[in-house]
Amino acid sequence: MIASCNPATGQTIRRYEEPTEAAVDAALSAAGAAQREWAARSLSERLPLLRRAASLLRQRKEELAPQASLEMGKPLTEALAELEKCVWCLEFYADAGPDFLREDIVPTAAADSRVVYEPLGLVLAIMPWNYPFWQVIRAVAPILVGGNGLVLKHASNVPGCSLAIESVFADAGFPAGLVTTLLVGAGRVAGVIGDRRIAAVTFTGSTPAGRSIAAEAGRALKKQVLELGGSDPFIVLADADISSAAKAAVRSRFQNTGQSCIAAKRFIVQAEVADDFVDAVLAEVDRLVVGDPFAEGVTQGPMARTNLRDELDAQVQASVCEGARLLRGGKSLPGPGAFYTPTVLDAVTPEMTVAREETFGPAAAILRTRDAAEAVRIANGTSFGLGAALWTTDHDRAAALARQLEVGAVFVNGVVASDPRLPFGGVKESGYGRELGVLGVREFTNAKTIWTGPARL
Ligand code: NAP
Repeated sequence: MIASCNPATGQTIRRYEEPTEAAVDAALSAAGAAQREWAARSLSERLPLLRRAASLLRQRKEELAPQASLEMGKPLTEALAELEKCVWCLEFYADAGPDFLREDIVPTAAADSRVVYEPLGLVLAIMPWNYPFWQVIRAVAPILVGGNGLVLKHASNVPGCSLAIESVFADAGFPAGLVTTLLVGAGRVAGVIGDRRIAAVTFTGSTPAGRSIAAEAGRALKKQVLELGGSDPFIVLADADISSAAKAAVRSRFQNTGQSCIAAKRFIVQAEVADDFVDAVLAEVDRLVVGDPFAEGVTQGPMARTNLRDELDAQVQASVCEGARLLRGGKSLPGPGAFYTPTVLDAVTPEMTVAREETFGPAAAILRTRDAAEAVRIANGTSFGLGAALWTTDHDRAAALARQLEVGAVFVNGVVASDPRLPFGGVKESGYGRELGVLGVREFTNAKTIWTGPARL
């Protein structure tokens, strides 16, 4: 049984029967047949359907955004913005698809040699709840453009969002079953990965779950893309624009109630500007309004589940015991909701819990540092490697430092964000492979070489 629960009230929203094994089998067969039909269509036949899905999502956004707020607690305004981004992503791939899948002609000794990009088949997408629409759309758009089908195992706390996504693609006129939702718990994922009709796996979620999914996919020798956890550094050097950096810091850490893989989590600040930066951050944090995600003016809803809120609180309390200074927050709100006060910890050192582990919620850790070289050492001193922000007004220095950071993306004087035009992904324990951009499309294609003789001597 899958049950969705409103994290603002603790009340069950709806229960869903899990499909039987026979129903999963039938869904995979239908998805496989739909994928073969889809792959046989030309790109120019596929692209209008992506545009149609984009337009349906736009039409339905007022109806779909509340579903995200209800199931995982994000403020309604953020849910609406998330859906707008999904529309953009689908439209972007409808426009860019032909370019990204263009055959590459490679001069060799052959009369003609080229690389063509062909579909892999059915891709199993195992997705998290934190951006319940965006995480799926950013995976599905490049996967479909490439001629593949998608079987979606969404997080168990957002079944309504999962079914809503399936409906958009069905109603847009894609072959029936090409985008199929399986409302199954995590315990049934291994069986689906091993199924012969699944060609590849894309997973976004925590590092521990990534390890076990990678092991299953490895056993079955199936291609995987893993987008895992992060503990992104946000480096502020002495010559940074402190006021802009502080505003961006609070946006990056606290939006989506801090539940973003690429949220800034460790603020590594050069000592001479640290007091000014902390003051500016606190002023911004004091403007955050915690409450009902549907209420006007609320900027921070509940966390998605009470167990996740309690895990965050344990990390914060452990760090205080280890010597961190609690400047704001550090409390769960009383009542059945999963609310946590916006939290700022100063005097954090790299050994403390909030610096070593991923903090997936509204808690900022400030680490003071001597100079840029030490900042980079601290930034890299983690098992994660997703994104990094770097604040300095010296562009040459930024360019050099950006190359020293062991991450998948560096944003200089900006908030790390996903963008359909740019590849997205991590290194180290943040995963491997890329979503989005041209690389995102090609991950789930067979890059086939076709060599035609005779060879020139
Ligand atoms: P999670 O617990 O790993 O769950 C993610 C998905 O994996 C859910 O669908 C979950 O299903 C499933 N799952 C969990 N354990 C599994 C297992 N052992 N085998 C197969 N499937 C399993 O992560 P989350 O709490 O939903 O999301 C937060 C995490 O995701 C954070 O670590 C965050 O950094 C990461 N994340 C990364 C990115 C990125 O792009 N790198 C983006 C967003 C989030 P159930 O819900 O049924 O358990």
